[in-house]
Amino acid sequence: MKTIGMLGGMSWESTATYYRAINEGVKQALGGLHSARICMISVDFDEIEKLQQLDDWDASAVLLAEAARKVEAGGADFLIICTNTMHRVAPQIEQAISIPLLHIADATAEKLVRDGIKRVGLLGTRFTMEQDFYKSRLTDKYGIEVLIPETAARDLVHEVIYSELCLGKIEDQSRAEFLKIIDELSAQGAAAVILGCTEIALLVQQQQTTVPLYDTTEIHAMQTVAYALGE
Ligand code: GLU
Repeated sequence: MKTIGMLGGMSWESTATYYRAINEGVKQALGGLHSARICMISVDFDEIEKLQQLDDWDASAVLLAEAARKVEAGGADFLIICTNTMHRVAPQIEQAISIPLLHIADATAEKLVRDGIKRVGLLGTRFTMEQDFYKSRLTDKYGIEVLIPETAARDLVHEVIYSELCLGKIEDQSRAEFLKIIDELSAQGAAAVILGCTEIALLVQQQQTTVPLYDTTEIHAMQTVAYALGE
Protein backbone atom coordinates (compact mmCIF):
# COMPACT_ATOMS: atom_id res chain seq x y z
CA MET A 1 0.00 0.00 0.00
CA LYS A 2 1.31 3.45 -0.94
CA THR A 3 1.48 6.26 1.63
CA ILE A 4 -1.10 8.92 0.83
CA GLY A 5 0.00 12.55 1.14
CA MET A 6 -2.81 14.93 2.09
CA LEU A 7 -2.92 18.71 2.12
CA GLY A 8 -5.88 19.29 4.42
CA GLY A 9 -7.58 21.88 6.56
CA MET A 10 -9.38 23.66 3.69
CA SER A 11 -11.63 23.37 5.52
CA TRP A 12 -11.03 20.74 8.21
CA GLU A 13 -14.78 19.95 8.05
CA SER A 14 -14.25 18.31 4.67
CA THR A 15 -10.79 16.95 5.50
CA ALA A 16 -12.50 14.93 8.24
CA THR A 17 -14.80 13.47 5.54
CA TYR A 18 -11.77 12.60 3.37
CA TYR A 19 -9.97 10.96 6.30
CA ARG A 20 -12.98 8.79 7.12
CA ALA A 21 -13.79 7.91 3.49
CA ILE A 22 -10.19 6.93 2.71
CA ASN A 23 -9.88 4.74 5.78
CA GLU A 24 -13.29 3.15 5.14
CA GLY A 25 -12.24 2.46 1.55
CA VAL A 26 -9.01 0.75 2.59
CA LYS A 27 -10.83 -1.25 5.26
CA GLN A 28 -13.42 -2.35 2.73
CA ALA A 29 -10.75 -3.43 0.24
CA LEU A 30 -8.34 -5.14 2.61
CA GLY A 31 -10.59 -6.08 5.52
CA GLY A 32 -9.84 -6.59 9.19
CA LEU A 33 -7.83 -3.93 10.95
CA HIS A 34 -6.36 -2.46 7.76
CA SER A 35 -6.28 1.33 7.56
CA ALA A 36 -4.74 3.88 5.22
CA ARG A 37 -1.11 4.98 5.42
CA ILE A 38 -1.39 8.76 5.48
CA CYS A 39 0.97 11.67 5.88
CA MET A 40 -1.01 14.89 6.22
CA ILE A 41 -0.41 18.55 6.78
CA SER A 42 -3.52 20.41 7.81
CA VAL A 43 -3.15 24.16 7.34
CA ASP A 44 -4.82 27.05 9.18
CA PHE A 45 -7.72 27.87 6.84
CA ASP A 46 -8.02 31.44 8.11
CA GLU A 47 -4.68 32.23 6.50
CA ILE A 48 -5.69 30.64 3.18
CA GLU A 49 -9.09 32.36 3.10
CA LYS A 50 -7.54 35.79 3.74
CA LEU A 51 -5.18 35.29 0.80
CA GLN A 52 -8.15 34.26 -1.38
CA GLN A 53 -9.92 37.50 -0.48
CA LEU A 54 -6.78 39.49 -1.32
CA ASP A 55 -6.58 37.64 -4.64
CA ASP A 56 -3.01 36.77 -3.67
CA TRP A 57 -2.77 33.32 -5.23
CA ASP A 58 1.03 33.56 -5.46
CA ALA A 59 1.31 33.79 -1.67
CA SER A 60 -1.00 30.84 -1.12
CA ALA A 61 0.96 28.89 -3.75
CA VAL A 62 4.18 29.49 -1.76
CA LEU A 63 2.48 28.42 1.47
CA LEU A 64 0.93 25.25 0.02
CA ALA A 65 4.04 24.33 -1.98
CA GLU A 66 6.04 24.44 1.25
CA ALA A 67 3.46 22.25 3.00
CA ALA A 68 3.49 19.81 0.06
CA ARG A 69 7.29 19.52 0.26
CA LYS A 70 6.96 18.61 3.93
CA VAL A 71 4.34 15.97 3.12
CA GLU A 72 6.73 14.47 0.57
CA ALA A 73 9.60 14.57 3.07
CA GLY A 74 7.30 12.80 5.53
CA GLY A 75 7.19 9.79 3.24
CA ALA A 76 4.15 10.30 1.01
CA ASP A 77 4.20 8.46 -2.33
CA PHE A 78 1.67 10.82 -3.94
CA LEU A 79 -0.32 13.91 -3.02
CA ILE A 80 -3.94 14.98 -2.88
CA ILE A 81 -5.09 18.55 -2.21
CA CYS A 82 -8.32 18.24 -0.21
CA THR A 83 -10.18 21.20 -1.76
CA ASN A 84 -11.35 22.15 -5.23
CA THR A 85 -10.60 25.86 -4.93
CA MET A 86 -6.95 25.58 -4.03
CA HIS A 87 -6.32 23.55 -7.16
CA ARG A 88 -6.07 27.09 -8.51
CA VAL A 89 -2.40 26.77 -7.47
CA ALA A 90 -1.99 23.06 -8.32
CA PRO A 91 0.63 23.79 -11.04
CA GLN A 92 2.91 25.58 -8.54
CA ILE A 93 2.43 22.80 -5.96
CA GLU A 94 3.23 20.14 -8.56
CA GLN A 95 6.42 21.97 -9.48
CA ALA A 96 7.58 21.97 -5.87
CA ILE A 97 7.41 18.18 -5.42
CA SER A 98 8.62 15.08 -7.20
CA ILE A 99 5.70 12.80 -6.25
CA PRO A 100 2.55 12.71 -8.42
CA LEU A 101 -0.55 14.82 -7.70
CA LEU A 102 -4.00 13.26 -8.10
CA HIS A 103 -5.99 16.25 -9.38
CA ILE A 104 -9.58 16.47 -8.08
CA ALA A 105 -10.97 17.70 -11.42
CA ASP A 106 -9.37 14.78 -13.29
CA ALA A 107 -10.85 12.27 -10.84
CA THR A 108 -14.29 13.84 -11.29
CA ALA A 109 -14.06 14.23 -15.06
CA GLU A 110 -12.95 10.63 -15.52
CA LYS A 111 -16.08 9.46 -13.72
CA LEU A 112 -18.29 11.79 -15.78
CA VAL A 113 -16.73 10.46 -18.98
CA ARG A 114 -17.23 6.85 -17.85
CA ASP A 115 -20.89 7.68 -17.18
CA GLY A 116 -21.30 9.32 -20.59
CA ILE A 117 -22.12 12.78 -19.20
CA LYS A 118 -21.24 15.55 -21.61
CA ARG A 119 -22.91 18.61 -20.07
CA VAL A 120 -22.67 19.27 -16.37
CA GLY A 121 -23.57 21.94 -13.81
CA LEU A 122 -20.89 23.13 -11.39
CA LEU A 123 -21.39 24.33 -7.81
CA GLY A 124 -18.44 25.58 -5.79
CA THR A 125 -16.82 28.70 -4.48
CA ARG A 126 -17.00 31.80 -6.66
CA PHE A 127 -13.35 31.12 -7.58
CA THR A 128 -14.11 27.61 -8.80
CA MET A 129 -17.30 28.59 -10.65
CA GLU A 130 -16.02 31.81 -12.24
CA GLN A 131 -12.31 31.39 -12.86
CA ASP A 132 -10.85 29.27 -15.59
CA PHE A 133 -8.56 26.79 -13.79
CA TYR A 134 -11.27 24.21 -13.07
CA LYS A 135 -13.83 24.60 -15.85
CA SER A 136 -11.24 24.71 -18.62
CA ARG A 137 -9.68 21.48 -17.38
CA LEU A 138 -13.07 19.75 -17.72
CA THR A 139 -13.71 21.27 -21.12
CA ASP A 140 -10.29 21.22 -22.78
CA LYS A 141 -9.04 17.90 -21.44
CA TYR A 142 -12.29 15.92 -21.36
CA GLY A 143 -14.70 17.72 -23.70
CA ILE A 144 -17.28 18.29 -20.94
CA GLU A 145 -19.46 21.39 -21.24
CA VAL A 146 -19.81 23.21 -17.89
CA LEU A 147 -22.82 25.31 -16.83
CA ILE A 148 -22.67 27.56 -13.76
CA PRO A 149 -25.54 29.23 -11.87
CA GLU A 150 -26.45 32.88 -12.53
CA THR A 151 -24.82 35.65 -10.46
CA ALA A 152 -27.19 35.80 -7.46
CA ALA A 153 -27.15 32.02 -7.10
CA ARG A 154 -23.34 31.97 -7.31
CA ASP A 155 -23.18 34.58 -4.55
CA LEU A 156 -25.48 32.51 -2.38
CA VAL A 157 -23.54 29.27 -2.89
CA HIS A 158 -20.23 31.03 -2.15
CA GLU A 159 -21.61 32.68 0.97
CA VAL A 160 -23.08 29.46 2.35
CA ILE A 161 -19.76 27.64 1.83
CA TYR A 162 -17.71 30.15 3.83
CA SER A 163 -20.26 31.35 6.42
CA GLU A 164 -21.89 28.00 7.14
CA LEU A 165 -20.37 24.80 5.75
CA CYS A 166 -16.71 25.57 6.52
CA LEU A 167 -17.86 26.40 10.07
CA GLY A 168 -19.80 23.16 10.42
CA LYS A 169 -23.24 24.83 10.21
CA ILE A 170 -25.85 22.86 8.28
CA GLU A 171 -29.04 24.88 7.63
CA ASP A 172 -32.30 23.55 6.12
CA GLN A 173 -32.94 26.88 4.41
CA SER A 174 -29.59 26.70 2.60
CA ARG A 175 -30.24 23.11 1.58
CA ALA A 176 -33.54 24.19 -0.01
CA GLU A 177 -31.74 27.00 -1.91
CA PHE A 178 -29.03 24.63 -3.15
CA LEU A 179 -31.63 22.09 -4.33
CA LYS A 180 -33.43 24.86 -6.23
CA ILE A 181 -30.18 25.90 -7.93
CA ILE A 182 -29.47 22.25 -8.81
CA ASP A 183 -32.94 22.02 -10.41
CA GLU A 184 -32.31 25.21 -12.39
CA LEU A 185 -29.03 23.82 -13.75
CA SER A 186 -30.83 20.63 -14.72
CA ALA A 187 -33.58 22.65 -16.45
CA GLN A 188 -30.84 24.43 -18.43
CA GLY A 189 -29.65 21.08 -19.76
CA ALA A 190 -27.12 19.81 -17.22
CA ALA A 191 -27.27 16.00 -17.13
CA ALA A 192 -25.64 16.05 -13.69
CA VAL A 193 -24.27 18.53 -11.15
CA ILE A 194 -20.74 18.51 -9.73
CA LEU A 195 -20.58 19.29 -6.01
CA GLY A 196 -17.32 21.11 -6.75
CA CYS A 197 -16.58 22.17 -3.21
CA THR A 198 -15.54 19.56 -0.72
CA GLU A 199 -18.05 20.71 1.92
CA ILE A 200 -21.24 20.72 -0.19
CA ALA A 201 -22.07 17.05 0.45
CA LEU A 202 -22.34 17.93 4.14
CA LEU A 203 -25.46 19.88 3.10
CA VAL A 204 -26.89 18.16 0.02
CA GLN A 205 -27.04 14.44 -0.67
CA GLN A 206 -28.19 12.34 -3.62
CA GLN A 207 -31.39 11.10 -1.95
CA GLN A 208 -32.71 14.69 -1.85
CA THR A 209 -32.80 15.14 -5.65
CA THR A 210 -33.34 13.19 -8.85
CA VAL A 211 -30.54 15.13 -10.56
CA PRO A 212 -27.37 12.97 -10.52
CA LEU A 213 -24.80 14.53 -8.16
CA TYR A 214 -21.04 14.11 -8.45
CA ASP A 215 -19.53 14.64 -5.02
CA THR A 216 -15.90 15.61 -5.58
CA THR A 217 -14.86 14.63 -2.03
CA GLU A 218 -16.18 11.09 -2.37
CA ILE A 219 -14.87 10.66 -5.91
CA HIS A 220 -11.41 12.04 -5.05
CA ALA A 221 -11.20 9.93 -1.87
CA MET A 222 -12.17 6.73 -3.72
CA GLN A 223 -9.65 7.40 -6.49
CA THR A 224 -7.04 7.95 -3.79
CA VAL A 225 -7.80 4.57 -2.24
CA ALA A 226 -7.60 2.83 -5.62
CA TYR A 227 -4.27 4.50 -6.40
CA ALA A 228 -2.84 3.75 -2.96
CA LEU A 229 -3.76 0.08 -3.38
CA GLY A 230 -2.24 -0.01 -6.86
CA GLU A 231 -5.49 -0.58 -8.74
N1 GLU B 1 -13.26 23.20 0.35
C1 GLU B 1 -13.78 24.10 -0.60
C2 GLU B 1 -13.51 23.66 -2.01
O1 GLU B 1 -13.50 22.50 -2.27
C3 GLU B 1 -13.70 25.55 -0.32
C4 GLU B 1 -12.71 26.00 0.68
C5 GLU B 1 -11.48 26.52 0.00
O2 GLU B 1 -11.52 27.67 -0.41
O3 GLU B 1 -10.52 25.79 -0.14
O4 GLU B 1 -13.35 24.46 -2.89
